Amino acid sequence: MSVNTETAAKMQQIVLAGPRGFCAGVDRAIDIVELALQVCPYPVYVRKEIVHNRHVVEALRAKGAHFVDELDEVPDGATVIFSAHGISPAVRDEAQRRGLRVIDATCPLVTKVHLEAIRYAREGYSIILVGHADHDEVVGTMGEAPDRMFLIAHPEDVDRLNVADPDKVAYLTQTTLSVDDTRDCIEALRRRFPKIVGPSKDDICYATQNRQAAVKTVASEVDVLLVIGAANSSNANRLVEVSRVMGTPSHLINDKNDVRSEWLEGAHRVGVTAGASTPEFLVTEVVDEIRRRRSSDVREVRVVEEDVRFGLPRELEDMAQRAGKTLPPRSTVAGSGA
Ligand code: SF4
Repeated sequence: MSVNTETAAKMQQIVLAGPRGFCAGVDRAIDIVELALQVCPYPVYVRKEIVHNRHVVEALRAKGAHFVDELDEVPDGATVIFSAHGISPAVRDEAQRRGLRVIDATCPLVTKVHLEAIRYAREGYSIILVGHADHDEVVGTMGEAPDRMFLIAHPEDVDRLNVADPDKVAYLTQTTLSVDDTRDCIEALRRRFPKIVGPSKDDICYATQNRQAAVKTVASEVDVLLVIGAANSSNANRLVEVSRVMGTPSHLINDKNDVRSEWLEGAHRVGVTAGASTPEFLVTEVVDEIRRRRSSDVREVRVVEEDVRFGLPRELEDMAQRAGKTLPPRSTVAGSGA
């Protein structure tokens, strides 16, 4: 075999899925911590991981943010930021009772689900939440009406539901679920409770839907798909599942150090995407790592453009004003890899 033929045999293609990585809710949450560190009195606490990504958390920790699991680790009167996944009213009440200065970084699309839960509870519905137990978002949403909310994760769970009035049932969904699995759950709910009410489709957010749509397109073209994201990131795990359901092997990796050579062997095309909490610099590093091991060209398949951007919470601007400071422009420095 000539050298040229040998080189050609080693050539492969990396197919990047688009959109990928940060969504508007994550962008906003990171900006909130960045800005709070600049305008709020030191120290600034963050309850739970602001978003589910170790690299993001470490970058913010290096800049001075104190991450805690619960409010009892926050001194009275201090500033605390609630994460993008949302909180239950019990946590909010506790913060108020303790006189903490709260900045709420809950994604507005998660807040929307909370408001739906409050409305259905007020109207006397039993509420079925489709979601994953123990995820921060689900814990927060269930807390809005713990006496009348039921959690299901699979269509099979519908049969064991025991509600007060089968004619007065509503459903909600976690924002980061698999679009296809959720449709199956909702269909099962509709079969069991024909009068069930809920959102016109589901509460799965635009970013989750777009990233799954991109994975469906890319997975149909590649031999293996690498999803960059944390093990506790719901939307990143769903991207792996979507690819596997399509018959394309997929692996969840934290960063370039997790890339295994055996996944690349024999793969002519390698897909790469990232969950909504994953900074783009990790994607760049993974692509560079694959190219370091095997000569590859890079192509992006973008199924939709996103231009969603959420405003900052009012309380952050109020705090800046009280401190006689002006909020600097938003930048999401933690996502730059700097
Ligand atoms: S994944 Fe969706 S719901 Fe979650 S923070 Fe991003 S935009 Fe908001």
